[in-house]
Amino acid sequence: MSNQKVVVGIDNGGTKTLIGIVEQSGKILVKKQFPTDINDSPKTHIEKCMKVVNECMEKAGMNDQSLLGIGVNVPGLADPKKGVLIHAPYSGWRNVPVREHLQEKWPGIPIHIANDVNACALGELVFGRGKQFENFLWVTISTGIGGGIIIDRKMVEGEHFIAGEIGHLVVEWEDGKLCGCGNRGCLEAHASGTAIANMAKGKLEIEPSSITAKSVAESAYNGNKAALDKYRQAGNYIGRAFSYAANVLNPGAIIIGGGVSLSFDLLEPHIRETFQSAVIDETNKNIPILQTALGYEAGLIGAASLIYANDLKGDE
Ligand SMILES: [Zn+2]
Repeated sequence: MSNQKVVVGIDNGGTKTLIGIVEQSGKILVKKQFPTDINDSPKTHIEKCMKVVNECMEKAGMNDQSLLGIGVNVPGLADPKKGVLIHAPYSGWRNVPVREHLQEKWPGIPIHIANDVNACALGELVFGRGKQFENFLWVTISTGIGGGIIIDRKMVEGEHFIAGEIGHLVVEWEDGKLCGCGNRGCLEAHASGTAIANMAKGKLEIEPSSITAKSVAESAYNGNKAALDKYRQAGNYIGRAFSYAANVLNPGAIIIGGGVSLSFDLLEPHIRETFQSAVIDETNKNIPILQTALGYEAGLIGAASLIYANDLKGDE
């Protein structure tokens, strides 16, 4: 049996839950996923997670002595200090004492929970391109848009744990589209994958019901003008939001992930166009805007980094 210490990552998603054992290098030793059933009570869901953690540990030939800690991502608002999931909109779960439940089975083992976007930011800091920056802004552009702020290599959580919500910066005051948050003109309502697909409906030769940001991107790569135009619009709005953030934070980089970031080359020139015209100082104009180096398992790596990042702090 190996006496290497490892971290268990639990990446709770709206449709699937991915659990894995992650080495200090960021390598995933064993992983397993199961569908998230939003009809489960939170307790039942956590019990399923515990079972899968045990299966993974067994498969890796490890026992609880090998555990450095457990990191848990939740797709919603989390209180990392109390280890509580405050609210997960997709399932309606509220005030779930995640750490307490897990701690019953693993007493004495560090257990950290965080919002999934914040965990991705931390994953980028510990294992990704964020390694080389003291300060950076992380942005997930997917069906929605979320962000995480790293300052002095630490996560900025804010007074009520909602710092970094770049998706809800208002970028369109004249003709703002309604956002899921109830306000109008938010970045998320104008540049998320959902927004790109909605804007392209009826403008492309794609059945409106099956249109996605990905299919719009495919049309754009084939030179379709309407599709290119939707990415131009989205990119311009993203550039506006990035300029607000850059003038406030002066980050070393802005790093983007999420499904829409795969079409980064379609967005980048248009992000730069509005960004460059709205930031002050040469240092802000030169901020690198980068694509994440972490791929499909960024969420799982992020969950594990909740433990490894604390380990780094301990080394200081
Ligand atoms: Zn909003």
